Amino acid sequence: MEPTSPPTSTRLDPWLESYAARTRGLTASQVRALFAVASRPEVVSLAGGMPFVSALPLDAVAETVARLIRERGAVALQYGSGQGDVRLREQILDVMAPVGVTAHPDDIVVTAGSQMALDLVVRVFCDPGDVVLVEAPTYVTALGVFSSYQCEVVHVPMDEEGLRPDALREAVAAARAAGKKVKLVYTIPSFHNPAGVTQGPARRTEVLEVVQSAGLLLLEDDPYGLLGFDGTVPRAIRADDSEGVIYLGTFSKTIAAGLRVGWAVAPHGVREKLVLANETATLCPSNLTQMTISDYLATQPWFDQVKVFREVYRERRDALLESLEALMPAGTRWTVPAGGFYSWVTLPEGLDATAMLPRAVAALVAYVPGTGFYADGQGRESLRLSYCYPEPDRIREGVRRLAGVIESELEVVETFGSPRARADRPGPSAPYTDLA
Ligand code: PMP
Repeated sequence: MEPTSPPTSTRLDPWLESYAARTRGLTASQVRALFAVASRPEVVSLAGGMPFVSALPLDAVAETVARLIRERGAVALQYGSGQGDVRLREQILDVMAPVGVTAHPDDIVVTAGSQMALDLVVRVFCDPGDVVLVEAPTYVTALGVFSSYQCEVVHVPMDEEGLRPDALREAVAAARAAGKKVKLVYTIPSFHNPAGVTQGPARRTEVLEVVQSAGLLLLEDDPYGLLGFDGTVPRAIRADDSEGVIYLGTFSKTIAAGLRVGWAVAPHGVREKLVLANETATLCPSNLTQMTISDYLATQPWFDQVKVFREVYRERRDALLESLEALMPAGTRWTVPAGGFYSWVTLPEGLDATAMLPRAVAALVAYVPGTGFYADGQGRESLRLSYCYPEPDRIREGVRRLAGVIESELEVVETFGSPRARADRPGPSAPYTDLA
């Protein structure tokens, strides 16, 4: 039988009037919209942040899954605990030891990736209109969560060491003076997505002091903490405050994103609420993927594999930085990440990364425009480059193409002068229009 054709996007949605108010801010993220275009083989994608899972010992993982189903299938394929597998929770304590987090297995909730944990934390704390203080720029899908719970995102500026404590203090005072309820401070202290910067130890202490003196809860998101290129593992902020910090971790970058296993470490009362919220959201995280991670941790040299990942990403970071240095037109600036997946690029004066994107894709290179990483339309002069997935030679080629696009944008600025004139220049339209 012929498959029915998918509904076209031009058809009016008959349920348009029925959606809950909380869906209003939900638009396809630029990252998601980009995946469709950027996954074409001729495009060098410096856009999505996909981990390079091919570096894993895939045969060992396959053997683990096969053995699990053969020998413990009746458990692996059954429902499990809403808090997560107890053996895995114990192992997570070892995984967090390098970042200095100590806890009891009962303080941990296992979730479907740390994304789910992020969603649950906001779900249990935020009513519509509550303020979340968020460094700017920030992780796109965290913005999606804040928006779906109708939080007001107040951005706090960063510098080359991440979240600025002075600006955080001011933001708390201003929000409170305006009669708003501030519920959370969200930060990614290590190898930031998208900014590529890392808070040093003194900066972390200052941030914590501001949060503590304001009586606020800190949400520390740490997916990249073990991926420092010189082997240094930054000490988590949670290591210095177990009552006022919720720490989010994940196996997505150190084992496999597709298994969807992450976790939250939370103060006791919060942990109880998170388990209840986890149960209403998913009943329980997948036993099969939790047991796969658990067996992998028990039987494979997992920390050696983390070192393999670090080396893969360090080589790619170097390829990116060397080619940026060699090829980018004067006036372009970028951050130098000491770990993780991303560098944040600021274009020469007058250029607009959102308007430039269709031209870049036509030149067969993709990136994520900066505006996607802010809740308030900032970021037109910036873009995020990911070096985690393409091979070094592809990265070099991608930067060469991007440099060419920036050069020709600069020529257009000289000719037409204004950003408006550039935005009006003809470029490819569908299917790229939804990226703007
Ligand atoms: N936080 C940040 C900062 C991220 O970059 C990501 C993934 N890109 C996540 C959370 C979610 O990761 P996962 O759900 O795969 O654990």
